[in-house]
Amino acid sequence: MRETDILVVVDVQNDFCPGGSLAVPEGDRVVPVINRLAGQFAHVVLTQDWHTPGHLSFASAHAGRKPFETTELAYGTQVLWPDHCIQNTPGAAFHAGLDVNRAELIVRKGFRSGVDSYSAFFENDRKTPTGLGGYLRERGFKRAFFVGLATDFCVRYSAEDAARLGFEAVVIEDACRGIGANGSMEAALDSFRKSKVRLAQSSSVAREAA
Ligand SMILES: [Zn+2]
Repeated sequence: MRETDILVVVDVQNDFCPGGSLAVPEGDRVVPVINRLAGQFAHVVLTQDWHTPGHLSFASAHAGRKPFETTELAYGTQVLWPDHCIQNTPGAAFHAGLDVNRAELIVRKGFRSGVDSYSAFFENDRKTPTGLGGYLRERGFKRAFFVGLATDFCVRYSAEDAARLGFEAVVIEDACRGIGANGSMEAALDSFRKSKVRLAQSSSVAREAA
């Protein structure tokens, strides 16, 4: 890969894997694919969903509401999730099989109790930056490849924000898995087509060098 390429590994955490509180079907299957891909990149960053207890995106924070229903918050429509990825809990830890030692940065997100953060670049108010955009720009990265969980939420919004910020954005499909809530997978694929996000397969990524 080029020196200006970076692999962004999104939320490969226990709560998003089978047995976790917000398990993505086959979520753990991405781990060997990502480990293999990571070896092909000179640069890797990780994101980590990192919520306060009682976070406003949790259904449990809203009387009478159930997970996967939506609600209107100050910044727009929010899906209500089961409690997940609470700071310093085993569910928030990276999957034990993920080879994370080479990662140069871990971006934590969703740590403000009143606003969720799907994207690695902006919180769900679409305005508050995480700092990752500046980090990538300052270090001279031009192209970001996205892998991890889940295709239809955090991977989707991260890749679209990267494209919006002027980076070349590629989602490596077979290194991601989706949640599939209320047509969210179809919406994500449709949105990728409309935005400048490109889809690729892990087998072809190695051939994209230079
Ligand atoms: Zn979350």
